[in-house]
Amino acid sequence: MAEKMLKFVQTAQAMPEKRMAADRAKDFDEIYREFAAQKAAEQASRCSQCGVPFCQVHCPLHNNIPDWLRMTAEGRLEEAYELSQATNTFPEVCGRICPQDRLCEGNCVIEQSGHGTVTIGAIEKYITETAWASGWVKSPKPLHGERPQSIGIVGAGPAGLAAADKLRRLGYAVHVYDRYDRPGGLLIYGIPNFKLEKDVVERRSKLLAEAGVQFHMNFEVGRDATLDELRKKHDAVLIATGVYKARDIQAPGSGLQNIVPAMTYLTASNKHGLGDTVPEFENGQLNAQGKKVVVIGGGDTAMDCVRTAVRQGATAVHCLYRRDKANMPGSLREVKNAEEEGVEFVWLSLPKSFRGEGKVTAVHAGRMKLGPADASGRQMPVEIEGADFDQPADLVIKALGFDPEDLAQDFKAPHLEVTRWGTVKISARSKMTSMPGVFAAGDIVRGASLVVWAIRDGRDAAAAIHQYIQAKAQPAAQAAE
Ligand SMILES: Cc1cc2nc3c(=O)[nH]c(=O)nc-3n(C[C@H](O)[C@H](O)[C@H](O)COP(=O)(O)OP(=O)(O)OC[C@H]3O[C@@H](n4cnc5c(N)ncnc54)[C@H](O)[C@@H]3O)c2cc1C
Ligand code: SF4
Repeated sequence: MAEKMLKFVQTAQAMPEKRMAADRAKDFDEIYREFAAQKAAEQASRCSQCGVPFCQVHCPLHNNIPDWLRMTAEGRLEEAYELSQATNTFPEVCGRICPQDRLCEGNCVIEQSGHGTVTIGAIEKYITETAWASGWVKSPKPLHGERPQSIGIVGAGPAGLAAADKLRRLGYAVHVYDRYDRPGGLLIYGIPNFKLEKDVVERRSKLLAEAGVQFHMNFEVGRDATLDELRKKHDAVLIATGVYKARDIQAPGSGLQNIVPAMTYLTASNKHGLGDTVPEFENGQLNAQGKKVVVIGGGDTAMDCVRTAVRQGATAVHCLYRRDKANMPGSLREVKNAEEEGVEFVWLSLPKSFRGEGKVTAVHAGRMKLGPADASGRQMPVEIEGADFDQPADLVIKALGFDPEDLAQDFKAPHLEVTRWGTVKISARSKMTSMPGVFAAGDIVRGASLVVWAIRDGRDAAAAIHQYIQAKAQPAAQAAE
Protein backbone atom coordinates (compact mmCIF):
# COMPACT_ATOMS: atom_id res chain seq x y z
CA MET A 1 0.00 0.00 0.00
CA ALA A 2 1.31 3.46 -0.90
CA GLU A 3 2.50 5.38 2.18
CA LYS A 4 2.35 9.14 2.63
CA MET A 5 5.63 10.87 3.49
CA LEU A 6 6.83 12.88 6.53
CA LYS A 7 5.77 10.15 8.98
CA PHE A 8 8.81 10.60 11.19
CA VAL A 9 6.77 11.74 14.20
CA GLN A 10 4.24 8.90 14.34
CA THR A 11 6.48 6.12 12.93
CA ALA A 12 9.47 5.10 15.01
CA GLN A 13 12.80 4.40 13.38
CA ALA A 14 13.48 0.70 12.76
CA MET A 15 16.38 -1.22 11.26
CA PRO A 16 15.93 -4.67 9.71
CA GLU A 17 16.08 -7.30 12.44
CA LYS A 18 19.61 -7.81 13.76
CA ARG A 19 20.48 -11.43 14.58
CA MET A 20 21.13 -12.20 18.26
CA ALA A 21 24.81 -11.70 19.17
CA ALA A 22 25.12 -15.27 20.49
CA ASP A 23 23.87 -16.70 17.18
CA ARG A 24 25.83 -14.47 14.84
CA ALA A 25 29.09 -15.06 16.72
CA LYS A 26 28.86 -18.72 15.62
CA ASP A 27 28.93 -18.09 11.87
CA PHE A 28 30.09 -15.63 9.19
CA ASP A 29 26.64 -14.82 7.78
CA GLU A 30 25.53 -11.19 7.53
CA ILE A 31 24.11 -9.90 10.79
CA TYR A 32 21.07 -7.98 9.47
CA ARG A 33 18.05 -9.66 7.92
CA GLU A 34 16.12 -8.08 5.03
CA PHE A 35 13.30 -5.57 5.42
CA ALA A 36 9.89 -7.00 4.45
CA ALA A 37 8.18 -4.93 1.70
CA GLN A 38 5.72 -3.24 4.06
CA LYS A 39 8.45 -2.38 6.57
CA ALA A 40 10.67 -0.83 3.87
CA ALA A 41 7.77 1.31 2.61
CA GLU A 42 6.90 2.37 6.16
CA GLN A 43 10.49 3.30 7.02
CA ALA A 44 10.96 5.17 3.70
CA SER A 45 7.81 7.16 4.48
CA ARG A 46 9.57 8.74 7.50
CA CYS A 47 11.61 10.93 5.10
CA SER A 48 10.84 14.63 5.50
CA GLN A 49 11.50 15.37 1.78
CA CYS A 50 13.73 18.34 2.60
CA GLY A 51 14.16 21.11 0.05
CA VAL A 52 17.91 20.90 0.59
CA PRO A 53 18.54 17.20 1.32
CA PHE A 54 21.68 17.08 3.45
CA CYS A 55 21.73 13.27 3.13
CA GLN A 56 22.29 13.69 -0.61
CA VAL A 57 24.90 16.40 -0.12
CA HIS A 58 26.87 14.16 2.26
CA CYS A 59 26.61 11.00 0.13
CA PRO A 60 29.85 10.90 -1.92
CA LEU A 61 27.78 9.75 -4.93
CA HIS A 62 25.13 12.43 -4.36
CA ASN A 63 22.47 9.75 -4.58
CA ASN A 64 18.99 11.13 -5.13
CA ILE A 65 17.90 9.73 -1.76
CA PRO A 66 14.64 11.64 -1.06
CA ASP A 67 13.22 10.67 -4.46
CA TRP A 68 13.99 6.96 -4.19
CA LEU A 69 12.66 6.95 -0.64
CA ARG A 70 9.38 8.45 -1.87
CA MET A 71 9.14 5.87 -4.67
CA THR A 72 9.77 3.07 -2.16
CA ALA A 73 7.05 4.44 0.12
CA GLU A 74 4.71 4.48 -2.88
CA GLY A 75 5.59 0.91 -3.88
CA ARG A 76 7.27 2.06 -7.14
CA LEU A 77 10.31 -0.13 -6.59
CA GLU A 78 11.47 -0.56 -10.18
CA GLU A 79 11.60 3.22 -10.61
CA ALA A 80 13.34 3.54 -7.24
CA TYR A 81 15.96 1.08 -8.44
CA GLU A 82 16.44 2.88 -11.78
CA LEU A 83 17.03 6.14 -9.96
CA SER A 84 19.32 4.65 -7.34
CA GLN A 85 21.52 2.77 -9.84
CA ALA A 86 21.83 5.87 -12.03
CA THR A 87 24.31 7.37 -9.56
CA ASN A 88 25.68 4.25 -7.83
CA THR A 89 27.30 1.28 -9.57
CA PHE A 90 26.95 -1.03 -6.53
CA PRO A 91 24.06 0.26 -4.36
CA GLU A 92 23.61 -3.09 -2.59
CA VAL A 93 27.26 -2.93 -1.45
CA CYS A 94 27.02 0.66 -0.17
CA GLY A 95 23.69 -0.07 1.54
CA ARG A 96 25.50 -2.76 3.52
CA ILE A 97 28.90 -1.27 4.34
CA CYS A 98 28.91 2.52 4.05
CA PRO A 99 29.50 4.13 7.45
CA GLN A 100 26.09 5.78 7.11
CA ASP A 101 26.37 7.35 10.57
CA ARG A 102 29.15 9.55 9.18
CA LEU A 103 27.61 10.12 5.70
CA CYS A 104 23.97 10.22 4.59
CA GLU A 105 22.23 9.15 7.82
CA GLY A 106 24.46 11.25 10.07
CA ASN A 107 23.28 14.32 8.17
CA CYS A 108 19.59 13.40 7.88
CA VAL A 109 17.54 16.37 9.09
CA ILE A 110 15.19 14.28 11.23
CA GLU A 111 18.25 12.74 12.93
CA GLN A 112 19.39 16.27 13.77
CA SER A 113 15.93 17.07 15.18
CA GLY A 114 16.08 14.05 17.49
CA HIS A 115 13.63 11.70 15.73
CA GLY A 116 16.22 9.19 14.56
CA THR A 117 17.52 9.10 10.99
CA VAL A 118 15.71 7.47 8.09
CA THR A 119 17.46 4.09 7.71
CA ILE A 120 18.75 5.03 4.25
CA GLY A 121 21.40 2.31 3.86
CA ALA A 122 19.00 -0.52 4.74
CA ILE A 123 16.43 0.81 2.26
CA GLU A 124 19.06 1.17 -0.49
CA LYS A 125 20.00 -2.47 0.10
CA TYR A 126 16.32 -3.50 0.07
CA ILE A 127 15.63 -1.71 -3.24
CA THR A 128 18.63 -3.32 -4.96
CA GLU A 129 18.06 -6.81 -3.57
CA THR A 130 14.47 -6.54 -4.84
CA ALA A 131 15.87 -5.52 -8.22
CA TRP A 132 18.16 -8.57 -8.32
CA ALA A 133 15.32 -10.89 -7.32
CA SER A 134 13.01 -9.34 -9.93
CA GLY A 135 15.52 -9.47 -12.81
CA TRP A 136 15.79 -5.67 -13.14
CA VAL A 137 19.59 -5.62 -12.80
CA LYS A 138 20.95 -5.73 -16.34
CA SER A 139 24.43 -6.50 -17.55
CA PRO A 140 26.37 -3.34 -18.57
CA LYS A 141 26.44 -4.15 -22.28
CA PRO A 142 27.34 -1.36 -24.75
CA LEU A 143 24.32 0.86 -25.37
CA HIS A 144 25.34 2.11 -28.83
CA GLY A 145 27.65 -0.54 -30.29
CA GLU A 146 31.36 -1.27 -29.95
CA ARG A 147 34.15 1.31 -30.14
CA PRO A 148 37.58 0.49 -31.58
CA GLN A 149 39.56 1.65 -28.51
CA SER A 150 40.54 -0.50 -25.54
CA ILE A 151 41.14 0.48 -21.91
CA GLY A 152 43.41 -1.34 -19.45
CA ILE A 153 42.39 -1.18 -15.80
CA VAL A 154 44.91 -2.24 -13.15
CA GLY A 155 43.02 -3.39 -10.05
CA ALA A 156 39.65 -5.13 -9.76
CA GLY A 157 38.54 -3.41 -6.54
CA PRO A 158 35.45 -1.17 -6.39
CA ALA A 159 37.24 1.72 -8.17
CA GLY A 160 38.40 -0.47 -11.07
CA LEU A 161 35.08 -2.32 -11.36
CA ALA A 162 33.01 0.89 -11.27
CA ALA A 163 35.15 2.30 -14.09
CA ALA A 164 34.92 -0.99 -16.03
CA ASP A 165 31.11 -0.88 -15.80
CA LYS A 166 30.88 2.67 -17.17
CA LEU A 167 33.46 2.20 -19.92
CA ARG A 168 31.92 -1.03 -21.13
CA ARG A 169 28.49 0.60 -21.35
CA LEU A 170 30.15 3.23 -23.57
CA GLY A 171 31.34 0.44 -25.89
CA TYR A 172 35.08 0.28 -25.10
CA ALA A 173 36.92 -3.03 -24.95
CA VAL A 174 37.76 -3.25 -21.25
CA HIS A 175 40.61 -5.37 -19.83
CA VAL A 176 40.96 -5.61 -16.05
CA TYR A 177 44.28 -6.86 -14.63
CA ASP A 178 44.57 -7.99 -11.01
CA ARG A 179 47.21 -9.81 -8.99
CA TYR A 180 44.55 -11.67 -6.98
CA ASP A 181 42.74 -14.74 -8.26
CA ARG A 182 39.23 -13.23 -7.89
CA PRO A 183 37.87 -9.78 -8.78
CA GLY A 184 36.59 -7.54 -5.97
CA GLY A 185 39.75 -6.26 -4.22
CA LEU A 186 39.09 -5.55 -0.56
CA LEU A 187 35.40 -6.37 -1.04
CA ILE A 188 36.50 -10.01 -1.37
CA TYR A 189 39.74 -10.33 0.61
CA GLY A 190 39.52 -7.53 3.22
CA ILE A 191 35.93 -7.01 4.33
CA PRO A 192 34.57 -10.09 6.14
CA ASN A 193 31.49 -12.02 5.11
CA PHE A 194 29.43 -10.94 8.13
CA LYS A 195 29.46 -7.37 6.71
CA LEU A 196 29.32 -8.26 3.01
CA GLU A 197 28.58 -11.77 1.78
CA LYS A 198 30.89 -12.76 -1.07
CA ASP A 199 28.18 -13.80 -3.54
CA VAL A 200 26.97 -10.17 -3.49
CA VAL A 201 30.31 -9.18 -5.02
CA GLU A 202 30.70 -12.24 -7.23
CA ARG A 203 27.37 -11.78 -9.01
CA ARG A 204 28.52 -8.24 -9.99
CA SER A 205 31.84 -9.47 -11.46
CA LYS A 206 29.90 -12.18 -13.30
CA LEU A 207 27.62 -9.54 -14.81
CA LEU A 208 30.64 -7.52 -15.97
CA ALA A 209 32.20 -10.62 -17.54
CA GLU A 210 28.90 -11.39 -19.31
CA ALA A 211 28.96 -7.86 -20.72
CA GLY A 212 32.37 -8.56 -22.26
CA VAL A 213 34.77 -7.13 -19.66
CA GLN A 214 37.89 -9.29 -19.85
CA PHE A 215 39.47 -10.20 -16.54
CA HIS A 216 43.17 -11.11 -16.43
CA MET A 217 43.55 -12.54 -12.94
CA ASN A 218 46.84 -13.50 -11.22
CA PHE A 219 48.39 -10.77 -13.37
CA GLU A 220 50.64 -8.47 -11.40
CA VAL A 221 51.65 -5.24 -13.07
CA GLY A 222 55.35 -4.80 -12.34
CA ARG A 223 55.93 -8.57 -12.51
CA ASP A 224 53.95 -9.67 -15.59
CA ALA A 225 54.10 -6.38 -17.51
CA THR A 226 55.41 -2.86 -16.93
CA LEU A 227 53.08 0.12 -16.95
CA ASP A 228 54.64 1.28 -20.25
CA GLU A 229 53.87 -2.09 -21.85
CA LEU A 230 50.22 -1.84 -20.79
CA ARG A 231 50.05 1.75 -22.00
CA LYS A 232 51.27 0.66 -25.44
CA LYS A 233 48.64 -2.07 -25.55
CA HIS A 234 45.68 0.16 -24.65
CA ASP A 235 44.36 3.58 -25.65
CA ALA A 236 44.23 4.54 -21.97
CA VAL A 237 45.14 2.90 -18.66
CA LEU A 238 43.54 3.34 -15.24
CA ILE A 239 45.54 2.60 -12.08
CA ALA A 240 43.18 1.47 -9.29
CA THR A 241 45.49 -0.64 -7.15
CA GLY A 242 44.45 0.41 -3.64
CA VAL A 243 46.87 0.76 -0.72
CA TYR A 244 48.37 -2.34 0.88
CA LYS A 245 51.62 -1.48 2.73
CA ALA A 246 50.70 -2.17 6.35
CA ARG A 247 51.84 0.39 8.93
CA ASP A 248 54.00 -1.37 11.47
CA ILE A 249 54.80 -1.02 15.13
CA GLN A 250 58.49 -1.01 15.94
CA ALA A 251 58.77 -2.14 19.55
CA PRO A 252 60.91 -4.63 21.47
CA GLY A 253 59.68 -8.16 20.75
CA SER A 254 57.85 -7.26 17.53
CA GLY A 255 59.70 -10.10 15.77
CA LEU A 256 58.09 -12.77 18.00
CA GLN A 257 55.94 -15.45 16.37
CA ASN A 258 52.15 -15.00 16.17
CA ILE A 259 52.24 -11.23 15.68
CA VAL A 260 50.60 -10.73 12.29
CA PRO A 261 49.40 -7.88 10.04
CA ALA A 262 45.61 -7.46 9.76
CA MET A 263 45.39 -8.10 6.01
CA THR A 264 47.34 -11.38 6.31
CA TYR A 265 44.87 -12.51 8.97
CA LEU A 266 41.70 -11.31 7.20
CA THR A 267 42.75 -12.61 3.76
CA ALA A 268 43.36 -16.08 5.21
CA SER A 269 39.95 -16.04 6.89
CA ASN A 270 38.17 -14.83 3.73
CA LYS A 271 39.96 -17.39 1.53
CA HIS A 272 39.06 -20.16 3.97
CA GLY A 273 35.43 -18.97 3.88
CA LEU A 274 35.50 -19.11 0.07
CA GLY A 275 36.55 -22.77 0.25
CA ASP A 276 40.25 -22.31 -0.60
CA THR A 277 42.94 -24.35 1.12
CA VAL A 278 45.00 -21.96 3.24
CA PRO A 279 47.93 -23.83 4.88
CA GLU A 280 48.56 -21.07 7.50
CA PHE A 281 44.93 -21.27 8.51
CA GLU A 282 44.77 -25.08 8.54
CA ASN A 283 47.96 -25.34 10.68
CA GLY A 284 46.45 -22.90 13.19
CA GLN A 285 48.92 -20.04 12.63
CA LEU A 286 46.24 -17.65 11.30
CA ASN A 287 43.27 -19.19 13.10
CA ALA A 288 42.15 -17.61 16.39
CA GLN A 289 40.36 -20.73 17.64
CA GLY A 290 41.13 -21.37 21.31
CA LYS A 291 43.45 -18.36 21.52
CA LYS A 292 43.63 -15.14 23.50
CA VAL A 293 43.65 -12.51 20.79
CA VAL A 294 44.79 -8.90 21.05
CA VAL A 295 44.08 -6.52 18.17
CA ILE A 296 45.95 -3.23 18.05
CA GLY A 297 44.14 -0.31 16.38
CA GLY A 298 40.83 1.54 16.44
CA GLY A 299 39.69 1.69 12.81
CA ASP A 300 37.28 -0.42 10.77
CA THR A 301 40.01 -2.94 9.94
CA ALA A 302 40.56 -3.52 13.68
CA MET A 303 36.80 -4.00 14.14
CA ASP A 304 36.78 -6.60 11.35
CA CYS A 305 39.68 -8.45 12.99
CA VAL A 306 38.15 -8.60 16.48
CA ARG A 307 34.81 -9.79 15.13
CA THR A 308 36.49 -12.40 12.91
CA ALA A 309 38.44 -13.70 15.93
CA VAL A 310 35.19 -14.06 17.92
CA ARG A 311 33.69 -16.14 15.09
CA GLN A 312 36.77 -18.34 14.83
CA GLY A 313 36.32 -19.31 18.49
CA ALA A 314 38.92 -17.19 20.33
CA THR A 315 38.74 -17.60 24.12
CA ALA A 316 39.17 -13.84 24.67
CA VAL A 317 39.39 -10.87 22.30
CA HIS A 318 40.79 -7.52 23.43
CA CYS A 319 41.18 -4.40 21.32
CA LEU A 320 43.87 -1.92 22.39
CA TYR A 321 43.45 1.66 21.22
CA ARG A 322 45.46 4.69 22.34
CA ARG A 323 42.56 7.16 22.44
CA ASP A 324 39.05 6.76 23.91
CA LYS A 325 35.81 5.55 22.35
CA ALA A 326 34.65 9.05 21.37
CA ASN A 327 37.89 9.63 19.45
CA MET A 328 38.31 6.36 17.61
CA PRO A 329 38.30 6.43 13.79
CA GLY A 330 36.10 3.32 13.33
CA SER A 331 32.33 3.42 12.94
CA LEU A 332 30.54 3.46 16.32
CA ARG A 333 27.97 1.06 14.88
CA GLU A 334 30.75 -1.49 14.37
CA VAL A 335 32.09 -0.93 17.91
CA LYS A 336 28.60 -1.62 19.27
CA ASN A 337 28.34 -4.80 17.19
CA ALA A 338 31.74 -5.93 18.46
CA GLU A 339 30.85 -5.19 22.10
CA GLU A 340 27.61 -7.16 21.76
CA GLU A 341 29.62 -10.09 20.40
CA GLY A 342 31.88 -10.12 23.47
CA VAL A 343 34.91 -8.05 22.41
CA GLU A 344 36.54 -6.09 25.24
CA PHE A 345 37.94 -2.67 24.41
CA VAL A 346 40.91 -1.44 26.37
CA TRP A 347 40.69 2.29 25.61
CA LEU A 348 43.59 4.65 26.20
CA SER A 349 46.29 2.00 25.97
CA LEU A 350 49.49 2.12 23.93
CA PRO A 351 51.53 -1.04 23.19
CA LYS A 352 55.17 -0.54 24.22
CA SER A 353 56.64 -4.02 23.75
CA PHE A 354 55.75 -7.67 23.25
CA ARG A 355 56.59 -10.35 25.80
CA GLY A 356 57.36 -14.00 25.12
CA GLU A 357 60.05 -16.58 24.30
CA GLY A 358 59.85 -17.40 20.59
CA LYS A 359 56.08 -16.91 20.57
CA VAL A 360 54.23 -13.89 21.90
CA THR A 361 52.55 -14.32 25.31
CA ALA A 362 51.50 -10.75 26.17
CA VAL A 363 51.38 -7.18 24.96
CA HIS A 364 53.04 -4.78 27.39
CA ALA A 365 51.16 -1.48 27.22
CA GLY A 366 51.12 1.94 28.82
CA ARG A 367 47.96 3.70 30.03
CA MET A 368 47.17 7.03 28.41
CA LYS A 369 45.05 10.07 29.09
CA LEU A 370 43.91 12.65 26.58
CA GLY A 371 45.98 15.82 26.63
CA PRO A 372 45.79 19.09 24.72
CA ALA A 373 44.57 19.14 21.12
CA ASP A 374 47.08 19.09 18.26
CA ALA A 375 46.99 21.34 15.16
CA SER A 376 44.09 19.28 13.74
CA GLY A 377 42.02 19.91 16.88
CA ARG A 378 42.21 16.29 18.02
CA GLN A 379 43.24 15.60 21.64
CA MET A 380 46.63 13.93 21.83
CA PRO A 381 47.12 10.83 24.02
CA VAL A 382 49.65 11.39 26.83
CA GLU A 383 51.15 8.55 28.86
CA ILE A 384 50.35 8.14 32.58
CA GLU A 385 53.61 7.36 34.37
CA GLY A 386 53.81 4.04 36.23
CA ALA A 387 50.48 2.66 34.96
CA ASP A 388 51.80 -0.01 32.54
CA PHE A 389 50.07 -3.36 32.27
CA ASP A 390 50.37 -6.69 30.43
CA GLN A 391 47.55 -7.94 28.22
CA PRO A 392 47.93 -11.73 27.76
CA ALA A 393 47.93 -12.83 24.10
CA ASP A 394 48.56 -15.94 21.97
CA LEU A 395 47.85 -14.05 18.75
CA VAL A 396 48.43 -10.33 18.16
CA ILE A 397 46.94 -8.65 15.10
CA LYS A 398 48.31 -5.28 14.00
CA ALA A 399 45.63 -3.09 12.42
CA LEU A 400 47.36 0.28 12.28
CA GLY A 401 46.38 1.37 8.79
CA PHE A 402 47.85 1.22 5.31
CA ASP A 403 50.19 3.25 3.12
CA PRO A 404 50.66 3.06 -0.65
CA GLU A 405 53.28 0.78 -2.11
CA ASP A 406 56.06 2.41 -4.17
CA LEU A 407 54.22 2.24 -7.49
CA ALA A 408 56.75 4.18 -9.56
CA GLN A 409 59.35 1.57 -8.62
CA ASP A 410 57.04 -1.48 -8.69
CA PHE A 411 55.60 -0.54 -12.09
CA LYS A 412 59.06 0.42 -13.43
CA ALA A 413 57.56 3.81 -14.25
CA PRO A 414 59.92 6.53 -12.95
CA HIS A 415 57.80 9.22 -14.63
CA LEU A 416 54.74 8.40 -12.55
CA GLU A 417 54.54 11.29 -10.08
CA VAL A 418 53.44 10.59 -6.53
CA THR A 419 52.59 12.86 -3.59
CA ARG A 420 54.71 13.09 -0.45
CA TRP A 421 52.43 10.41 1.04
CA GLY A 422 53.20 8.08 -1.88
CA THR A 423 49.71 8.27 -3.37
CA VAL A 424 49.48 8.74 -7.14
CA LYS A 425 49.21 12.39 -8.18
CA ILE A 426 46.37 13.22 -10.59
CA SER A 427 44.97 16.38 -12.05
CA ALA A 428 41.73 17.21 -10.21
CA ARG A 429 40.12 18.16 -13.48
CA SER A 430 41.33 15.51 -15.98
CA LYS A 431 41.95 12.67 -13.45
CA MET A 432 45.14 12.01 -15.44
CA THR A 433 48.50 11.21 -13.83
CA SER A 434 51.80 12.71 -14.92
CA MET A 435 51.86 10.09 -17.72
CA PRO A 436 49.68 10.98 -20.74
CA GLY A 437 46.76 8.58 -21.10
CA VAL A 438 47.32 7.05 -17.64
CA PHE A 439 44.59 7.80 -15.08
CA ALA A 440 44.20 6.81 -11.41
CA ALA A 441 41.31 6.33 -8.98
CA GLY A 442 40.36 5.02 -5.53
CA ASP A 443 42.57 4.47 -2.48
CA ILE A 444 45.78 4.79 -4.51
CA VAL A 445 44.84 8.45 -5.05
CA ARG A 446 43.07 9.26 -1.75
CA GLY A 447 44.95 6.99 0.66
CA ALA A 448 42.94 4.39 2.62
CA SER A 449 39.33 5.53 2.34
CA LEU A 450 35.88 4.06 1.70
CA VAL A 451 34.20 1.87 -0.89
CA VAL A 452 31.70 4.61 -1.77
CA TRP A 453 34.57 7.02 -2.56
CA ALA A 454 36.30 4.36 -4.67
CA ILE A 455 33.08 3.93 -6.68
CA ARG A 456 32.79 7.69 -7.13
CA ASP A 457 36.41 7.96 -8.26
CA GLY A 458 36.06 5.02 -10.66
CA ARG A 459 32.99 6.59 -12.26
CA ASP A 460 34.68 9.99 -12.53
CA ALA A 461 37.82 8.44 -14.03
CA ALA A 462 35.72 6.56 -16.61
CA ALA A 463 34.06 9.82 -17.67
CA ALA A 464 37.49 11.50 -17.90
CA ILE A 465 38.92 8.63 -19.98
CA HIS A 466 35.96 8.85 -22.36
CA GLN A 467 36.52 12.59 -22.73
CA TYR A 468 40.26 12.05 -23.36
CA ILE A 469 39.65 9.44 -26.04
CA GLN A 470 36.96 11.51 -27.73
CA ALA A 471 39.24 14.56 -27.75
CA LYS A 472 42.04 12.49 -29.35
CA ALA A 473 39.70 10.92 -31.89
CA GLN A 474 38.32 14.28 -33.11
CA PRO A 475 41.47 15.71 -34.81
CA ALA A 476 42.11 12.30 -36.39
CA ALA A 477 38.57 12.25 -37.81
CA GLN A 478 38.94 15.86 -39.03
CA ALA A 479 42.25 15.06 -40.73
CA ALA A 480 40.62 12.15 -42.55
CA GLU A 481 37.82 14.38 -43.93
C1 LIG B 1 39.63 -4.78 6.47
C2 LIG B 1 39.00 -3.63 5.77
C3 LIG B 1 37.67 -3.34 6.01
C4 LIG B 1 37.06 -2.28 5.36
N1 LIG B 1 35.76 -2.02 5.63
C5 LIG B 1 35.14 -1.03 4.96
C6 LIG B 1 33.76 -0.76 5.18
O1 LIG B 1 33.11 -1.41 6.00
N2 LIG B 1 33.18 0.22 4.46
C7 LIG B 1 33.86 0.95 3.53
O2 LIG B 1 33.28 1.81 2.87
N3 LIG B 1 35.18 0.74 3.32
C8 LIG B 1 35.83 -0.23 4.02
N4 LIG B 1 37.17 -0.45 3.79
C9 LIG B 1 37.88 0.38 2.81
C10 LIG B 1 37.59 -0.09 1.36
O3 LIG B 1 37.66 -1.48 1.28
C11 LIG B 1 38.55 0.57 0.39
O4 LIG B 1 38.49 1.97 0.55
C12 LIG B 1 38.19 0.22 -1.07
O5 LIG B 1 38.16 -1.16 -1.28
C13 LIG B 1 39.20 0.87 -2.03
O6 LIG B 1 38.90 0.45 -3.33
P1 LIG B 1 40.02 0.42 -4.47
O7 LIG B 1 39.33 -0.12 -5.68
O8 LIG B 1 40.69 1.72 -4.55
O9 LIG B 1 41.12 -0.62 -3.95
P2 LIG B 1 41.08 -2.16 -3.53
O10 LIG B 1 39.73 -2.58 -3.08
O11 LIG B 1 42.19 -2.33 -2.57
O12 LIG B 1 41.41 -2.95 -4.87
C14 LIG B 1 42.67 -2.83 -5.47
C15 LIG B 1 42.93 -4.04 -6.35
O13 LIG B 1 44.15 -3.81 -7.05
C16 LIG B 1 44.88 -5.01 -7.10
N5 LIG B 1 46.30 -4.71 -7.30
C17 LIG B 1 47.12 -4.03 -6.47
N6 LIG B 1 48.34 -3.94 -7.00
C18 LIG B 1 48.31 -4.58 -8.20
C19 LIG B 1 49.28 -4.84 -9.22
N7 LIG B 1 50.55 -4.44 -9.13
N8 LIG B 1 48.87 -5.52 -10.31
C20 LIG B 1 47.60 -5.97 -10.45
N9 LIG B 1 46.66 -5.75 -9.50
C21 LIG B 1 47.01 -5.06 -8.40
C22 LIG B 1 44.59 -5.67 -5.78
O14 LIG B 1 44.83 -7.08 -5.85
C23 LIG B 1 43.12 -5.33 -5.58
O15 LIG B 1 42.27 -6.34 -6.10
C24 LIG B 1 37.81 -1.49 4.46
C25 LIG B 1 39.16 -1.76 4.22
C26 LIG B 1 39.76 -2.82 4.88
C27 LIG B 1 41.21 -3.10 4.66
S1 SF4 C 1 25.96 5.30 -1.07
FE1 SF4 C 1 26.45 5.27 1.13
S2 SF4 C 1 26.39 7.42 1.75
FE2 SF4 C 1 25.32 7.28 -0.24
S3 SF4 C 1 23.14 6.95 0.27
FE3 SF4 C 1 24.05 4.92 0.04
S4 SF4 C 1 24.63 4.33 2.10
FE4 SF4 C 1 24.34 6.55 2.14
